[in-house]
Amino acid sequence: MTDVLVDFDEVLERYEPVIGLETHVELGTASKMFCGCSTTFGAEPNTQTCPVCLGLPGALPVANAAAIEATLRIGLALGCRVATWSRFSRKNYFYADIPKGFQTTQYDEPFCTAGHLDVEVDGETYRVEIERVHLEEDTGKNLHVGGSTGRIHGADHSLIDYNRAGIPLVEIVTRPIPGTNVKAPEVARAYVTELREIVKALGVSEVKMEEGNLRSDVNVSLAPIGSLEWGTRTETKNVNSLRSVERSVRFEMRRQAALLDAGERIFQETRHFHEDTGSTSPGRSKEEATDYRYFPEPDLVPVAPDEEWVASLAAALPELPAARRARLSEEWGLSATEMAWLANAGAVGLVGDTVEAGASPADARKWWLGELARRANDAGVELAELAVTPAQVAELVSLVAAGTINDQLARQTLDGVLAGEGDPAQVVEARGLAVMGESDELVAAVDAAIEGNPDVAEKVRGGKVQAIGALVGAVMKTTRGKADAATVKRMLEERLT
Ligand SMILES: [Zn+2]
Repeated sequence: MTDVLVDFDEVLERYEPVIGLETHVELGTASKMFCGCSTTFGAEPNTQTCPVCLGLPGALPVANAAAIEATLRIGLALGCRVATWSRFSRKNYFYADIPKGFQTTQYDEPFCTAGHLDVEVDGETYRVEIERVHLEEDTGKNLHVGGSTGRIHGADHSLIDYNRAGIPLVEIVTRPIPGTNVKAPEVARAYVTELREIVKALGVSEVKMEEGNLRSDVNVSLAPIGSLEWGTRTETKNVNSLRSVERSVRFEMRRQAALLDAGERIFQETRHFHEDTGSTSPGRSKEEATDYRYFPEPDLVPVAPDEEWVASLAAALPELPAARRARLSEEWGLSATEMAWLANAGAVGLVGDTVEAGASPADARKWWLGELARRANDAGVELAELAVTPAQVAELVSLVAAGTINDQLARQTLDGVLAGEGDPAQVVEARGLAVMGESDELVAAVDAAIEGNPDVAEKVRGGKVQAIGALVGAVMKTTRGKADAATVKRMLEERLT
């Protein structure tokens, strides 16, 4: 079934969107949430399990202190209030990836509440209120075999890997975010980008979205402009790239507007996002509230974070991304808007690391926001996913500065680096990309240009010096851009004036 969609700009003529995000961050602790099993990614299925995380009868959980500390640090970085008394709860439901028959999570007594995160989009600041930050355990991972989509529908059978079951998961829930209007998709993306930067700065998770370390459930609803009530929301589950967060909001707004235009109603349901088409499809209906029969986990003691401990955690927080950006924009001579642009492109860290590797801030910015941003965009990936490191970009910059290559050759060098041919210097060597010195080959090319364009040469001899450009161009063409234009010009002048 193909959805009818309304043009995005037209959606805003009639409706106001409200967005909300629930983001799961898989913590990078060495062991799982309630047992000593390893959390290393990519191990053979079901090799990192024990009676506790398999939910075998009689097994007793012990809470991971490092995970609790990481949760409090995330909460503090988001300006939350840390509870003085907190408990784990059982969320009861039956699904094969939940071996205990319930998930140990937090319900009405989460660790952190009432925070906020400010994000900037196109010079406007949007305050995202954080409702809660709580700690829970991840589920196992299902592998549906035999279907074409990898989803359960149409599959022959399903396999379950319990290595992930019990890995500590922090859930960060925003309050509904109204007032974003045309910027709703960008605000959603900017929020997840900023949250990821914070978690990265805290060092509590690898935050590799492609490995599912950070994934967001994206809520969207529309209401007619001026309406006092918000519309029915849909929840697009497990969106795992920044670009997809933005696209899923955009798609849901366009899809819901078409339904509302036609006088139909929006079903409260979960939806799946499809990377290939940028569309969403229905998942589970949420029309009837599931009764999870939450109750306090009897096998774990409540946690009462000590005031002094919390204060020491707050005092020991690292420089957070917003403060870092303010400091760097000063150091790099950027306006707040330029820095916000860099942040939303996910490039602050990359530019910073490139500067640390020896490039000037201007050069580092030029490459990441110019050539590399273009390539990432063409390939439909994030900047950080490009197969080039900040150190390699710094090396490229230094090769240009040393005159070994020019900008055009640098772009060809980049082709090689991105193709996995090695570091810039190696690629320059292997592909023979270095700028030509005043070699016999270049002398021959200069002489050939003069001989091949006698009328132009005559004009230059006669005093029309600007005509020399045509000859420089001819030499650059025969040397396929490998000559240095200034050198060529000087050589031509030596011969003609
Ligand atoms: Zn275990």
